[in-house]
Amino acid sequence: MADHSDCIFCKIASGKIPSARVWSSDDAVAFLDVSPLAEGHTLLIPRRHFTDLRDVPADVLARILSVAPKLVGALMNATGATGVNVLQNTGASAGQAVFHLHFHFIPRVEGDGLGFRWNAGSYPSGRADEVLAAVTAAMV
Ligand SMILES: [Zn+2]
Repeated sequence: MADHSDCIFCKIASGKIPSARVWSSDDAVAFLDVSPLAEGHTLLIPRRHFTDLRDVPADVLARILSVAPKLVGALMNATGATGVNVLQNTGASAGQAVFHLHFHFIPRVEGDGLGFRWNAGSYPSGRADEVLAAVTAAMV
């Protein structure tokens, strides 16, 4: 097993580094992000070290995310938020900064100014079919 002794989220999961823990189970820990995008911004992490969504077993992922409905409701009730973004970044190009799988739960209200760029585009003629074929082939 690889050494993850320098991983800050492994240290938080084990309690070596203190955190404002919201919830925990045998598989996962949820705690307040120390650099929140909004009050109540919570990180949900597996106790075991996985780099990102590519290396977590599906059954473990299901157990980690099983708290999501309760967590989202709690964050909305506790903060007065009217929405929550659930965000997971896989890879540095997607904004991943800590390479221990984690999910952001970010409480939102209308007009909070917390913007995500969503520069939606469109496929040139025929390109969607090419992309679809490539992705479905890779799903096997
Ligand atoms: Zn880790």
